[in-house]
Amino acid sequence: MKKSIYSLFILAIMYSCQQTNPGSTNKASYTPDTTMLATAFETYKEKTLTHRRFKHQDIEPLILKRKAQDLFSVKTLGRSVQKRILYQLSHGNGKKKIMLWSQMHGNESTATMALFDIFNFLEGKGDGYDSIRSLLKDKTTLIFLPMINPDGAEIFNRRNAFDIDLNRDARQTASPEAVILKAAAEQHKPAYGFNLHDQHIYYNVPGTPNPATISFLAPAYNHEKDVNEVRGRAMQLIVGMNKLLQQYVPNGVAKYDDTHEPRGFGDNFQKWGASTVLIESGGYKGDPEKQYIRKLNFMIILNALIEIAQESYLQYDRNNYQEIPENSSKLADLLIRNIEAERDSLRYNVDLAIKRDEITAPDSIFYIRGRIDDVGDLQDSYGYDELDAQGLTFMRGKVYPTPFNSIKELTPQRAVSLLKQGYLAAQLTNIAGGRHHRIPLLLSSRGTIYGNSPTLGSQANFFLARDGKPVYAIVNGYLIDLNKEPEETYKNYVQ
Ligand SMILES: [Zn+2]
Repeated sequence: MKKSIYSLFILAIMYSCQQTNPGSTNKASYTPDTTMLATAFETYKEKTLTHRRFKHQDIEPLILKRKAQDLFSVKTLGRSVQKRILYQLSHGNGKKKIMLWSQMHGNESTATMALFDIFNFLEGKGDGYDSIRSLLKDKTTLIFLPMINPDGAEIFNRRNAFDIDLNRDARQTASPEAVILKAAAEQHKPAYGFNLHDQHIYYNVPGTPNPATISFLAPAYNHEKDVNEVRGRAMQLIVGMNKLLQQYVPNGVAKYDDTHEPRGFGDNFQKWGASTVLIESGGYKGDPEKQYIRKLNFMIILNALIEIAQESYLQYDRNNYQEIPENSSKLADLLIRNIEAERDSLRYNVDLAIKRDEITAPDSIFYIRGRIDDVGDLQDSYGYDELDAQGLTFMRGKVYPTPFNSIKELTPQRAVSLLKQGYLAAQLTNIAGGRHHRIPLLLSSRGTIYGNSPTLGSQANFFLARDGKPVYAIVNGYLIDLNKEPEETYKNYVQ
């Protein structure tokens, strides 16, 4: 009975509901109040985390300051290969134990940011959300392991310092990080698990140009992919999260294929009895630092915690999980269709898919290199940016004959005027300070143009021309429209 009263109370705030008895497990249809969650995010987002490449040293003070407060219990679980501390923060004293772990892949940090936003939210007071906070505190025990792979995060690398993929180390536990995560699971025996990751941004919802902004999986605990009570609940949770997401990224959600991976942590948590949800943050147009996707993480995770606390997720039909489409991988950063190219004096029409790789430099700054990822009939592929180049021909770029002394001699406007004359690269005598820039031109001490060819795998640097005059430049995989105002042409350009 108590549950029912709670549900009514909370749902009155949280949901617009069409049923008068939300505590029941029938097929009531609730629409999560996403405005409330979105507003809470803006209020509570952790402002010191602003991009994906933060490190252990950036989050450590955010964890340690909570030691002095009594809302969270902060614990040191052990150390990574390179001796960075793996922390655990727990919250609440309810019966429902929920474990959330993030960034076991060091370069997958979107949900980690959202966890710190959730910590801030839980610490708020007197803002209209207190009933949610008491609900979570009384009904759940939340166990957070925000950064499982700090050594990987240090160099923005997937694997740990032994080159082990921690999500393939649940069985063997050869790495200290996997030992720690497994020990935490054994100690707490959570009823629910959230396994938080990022996927590459080229996954799309099949048959659409929409990125799979979030993908889910209720991992299988055996090769037969059976669905027991535990896994069924994970599916129900996902149905609820998907419902929320559809309001923000319509048709932008997919799921992973559920082949059992005996080495995976998600699969094993499911086997150990925790209803486990894998959340994978993908891509979203215009969100390279994934700050919007971070917000979506905040919303769906917080909503799921509330749904667990009040058991409202039991309303969802787990069969709806099967209706979520499976990830396709047909996206590129830039798709150019119908280019007329020439090789060996033969002319042909071709589509080019271009992807931009992030290369991590030793100083941990990264730069972008564009690459021709596919060539041919790409009618069934998509790009975050697309161009129909019908009537345009592939054109090689030239190196500007006079070297520049320093980057300061170049403005983006000047670079665009050089591009218009067919120059794609320039020599820079003093390269120091010019390594990372936002000038849409290839700059190096020798003035080399890598790529300059419609060849598979080559760097994506070339022109598209009409009647021999460049109208588009492709520099480092970015499309630059030379007929637009200079500011427009390079505004998205990052080098
Ligand atoms: Zn991952």
